[in-house]
Parts: sequence; C-alpha cells; structure tokens
Amino acid sequence: MKEDILHNMATIHERIKKACQQSGRDIDEVRLLLATKTVSADRIKIALGGGQTLIAENKVQELKEKYEDLKNITHESHFIGHLQTNKIKDILKFGVTCIQSLDRLDLAEKLHQRLLAENKTMDVFIQVNTSNEESKFGVDPIDAIDLVQKISRLSTLKIKGLMTIGLFSAETEKVRTCFKILKDLQQDIIRENIPNVEMKELSMGMSSDLETAIEEGATMVRVGTAVFGPRIYPDTYYWNEENTDH
Ligand SMILES: *Cc1c(COP(=O)(O)O)cnc(C)c1O
Repeated sequence: MKEDILHNMATIHERIKKACQQSGRDIDEVRLLLATKTVSADRIKIALGGGQTLIAENKVQELKEKYEDLKNITHESHFIGHLQTNKIKDILKFGVTCIQSLDRLDLAEKLHQRLLAENKTMDVFIQVNTSNEESKFGVDPIDAIDLVQKISRLSTLKIKGLMTIGLFSAETEKVRTCFKILKDLQQDIIRENIPNVEMKELSMGMSSDLETAIEEGATMVRVGTAVFGPRIYPDTYYWNEENTDH
C-alpha cells in the first residue's frame, strides 16, 4: 500500500516532467496537487511523507474528519469542491489556504463577510465551466471577466488564477479545447489589468489528461485516481449540489 502510493507519485512526477520537456516548459512551473477525496488520513500521510506538499478536498465534511490527523504535518490545503454558503464558517476552521472553486458572486460576498469578521484573507481561483456540461460547476466563460471584476472589489479575496475541470472524453482534442478556453480567458483577464487580481495560476488537468493540460499552460495539475487508485463513488457524487451534505 505504501509502496503503491509512492510508486504512483513517482510515475506522476515522471509524466509531468515528460510533458514539460515536450512543451518546452520548466518543470518548476507545474505543481502537483493531490485530490484526496475518499482517501484516509493514513494514506494521505504516506503521500506527505513522500514529499508531497499540496492536497485538496471536495467536501468540508472530509476536510474536518482528516484535519486533526494531518494538521501537524507541514502541507498546503486547498478546496476544490462545490462550496455551499452554509459551509463557509466551517471551511475557515480547517486550514484551507485557497478555494479553487469560487464560481459565483453570492458565495464570494458571503465568504468576504465571514473573512472580514475573522480578520482573515483567502486565496481563490475562479472556477470556469469550459466544457459546457450542465452537471459541472463553474462560471460560464462569457461571464467570467465580469465575475472576476466584481470579486476583485472584495478586499479579503485574493484572486490568483483560474480552475477548470475539462471534458471527460477520450478525445484529446476535445479536452484540449477546454484547456485552451481557460488559457485564453487568463490572457483576456490579464489584459484587463484589474487591481487586486493576479492571474498566474491555471489549475487544470487530472489523472487522465494532465499532459494535455501542461501543453496548454497548466501551472497546477490535480491528481487523485492515478496516485490513490479508483474511488468507490462516481465523481458526480462530489460535484452535485444535492449530495454535498453526505
Ligand atoms: C477528484 C478530482 C480531481 C482528480 O481526479 P482524478 O481523475 O482522480 O485524477 C481533480 N479535480 C477535481 C475538482 C476533483 O474533484
């Protein structure tokens, strides 16, 4: 079990390295994030012990359950799931330094109010729906600049980049289109020169499509299955609002 996780991590680093070489990018430009939904704290500890520094959960409940076990191990914790406004107070208790799934103004405003009250700030990525699938969250690309502008006025939220979940498809070129949309959007936002907005990060690419994402400019790839093995629940369980209370 330990060997599997470490071996898989090495394989992923090798894939990242190769993809960087092939697209003429510096390997330091791409960071590995481990998506740890359904993964026990013990198994996450193996990854952290193996040199991994960045992990992310999809559900506040799971974050909470593993928090005590992991809090004394140096690492960075992001949030990549659909966040309900009634979980905002909770998420601020468990050491999350970046919410990658910010996709609507009402959530941003409530988060801002809470952060103000606690005298804190939060890094955020704007999640964009680049695949046009109704089942996924994220702002429509057409509305993204407007949303970035509005969120930029909320002083506690520090926009650092964009996140997307690409299309689930075996057709690489269709997946690539999603990543290109995110990259183009990043460039458009940079041209807008919006105060309080940084656009360095592009979080895109998962176990099956990280090479394509790196070719298209990803600065962070989010990998779960390829390191920890298959999950028992389908991903829609984690991405559907109806199920977020479990
Ligand atoms: C689960 C998850 C991932 C990782 O997916 P794998 O296919 O297991 O690599 C990446 N991003 C998000 C938002 C996820 O929920």
